[in-house]
Amino acid sequence: MRILIVSDLHSNYEALEAVVEDAAGSYDEVVCLGDVVGYGGDPNRVTEWVRANTMAVIRGNHDRACTGDAVVEWFSGPAQIAAEWTSGELTGENRTFLEQLPAGPLAWDGVYLMHGSPRDEDEYVVDKAEAARLLPYLPGDICFFGHTHIQGGFGLRRGLAWRLAAPADGEHERVHQMEPDTLYLLNPGSVGQPRDMDRRAAYGLYDTEAKVLALRRTPYDIERAQKRILEASLPPFLADRLAQGR
Ligand code: ZN
Repeated sequence: MRILIVSDLHSNYEALEAVVEDAAGSYDEVVCLGDVVGYGGDPNRVTEWVRANTMAVIRGNHDRACTGDAVVEWFSGPAQIAAEWTSGELTGENRTFLEQLPAGPLAWDGVYLMHGSPRDEDEYVVDKAEAARLLPYLPGDICFFGHTHIQGGFGLRRGLAWRLAAPADGEHERVHQMEPDTLYLLNPGSVGQPRDMDRRAAYGLYDTEAKVLALRRTPYDIERAQKRILEASLPPFLADRLAQGR
């Protein structure tokens, strides 16, 4: 089975469209690691795509915030404004879908899906030391996570932790073969709001039989996504950061 893994879509329909086009023909099923909405200007279109196309989805902190969870109190000003706006925009069906999403980790076809970390869906796993400390909590050897908006992730073996490289500037894909006796925390990066200094939309493709992960980047129409944010009268900061990839 070849899986397309998307995470942190954040209501950015232009980025999602570009990912789907770029990945066409390379996958059998789609899974989503949460944060379908929040920040961007197209919450309903993105949620509808997720409802129609994914086989497994878990919730992110923004999906909770946009459907009334008190987690919103921890958000920054612009994130809070976007959550309130999104909450007012969502159709009843889309809101219900987001409200009912399960928390990770979720087992799916031999891999595990989570938003933050295996022990806390809101925890950010940013560096190798943090990843190594999570070793006892990993539910299986292949775990996919999001939340940080940083593509790559970590390999863990016999007390050693290392980082998996994302595509370099101008590079489309980085391929990683999973090794035996190794645990992995893998991050496909953010479709809708990358924060790793590469403004291109990020996603992952994983072959469950060959145990091969491809991390990919694809350019998309950033100006149009920015326009959608500004048309919604959301904070301009949320548009600016898309161009910077941070
Ligand atoms: Zn996010």
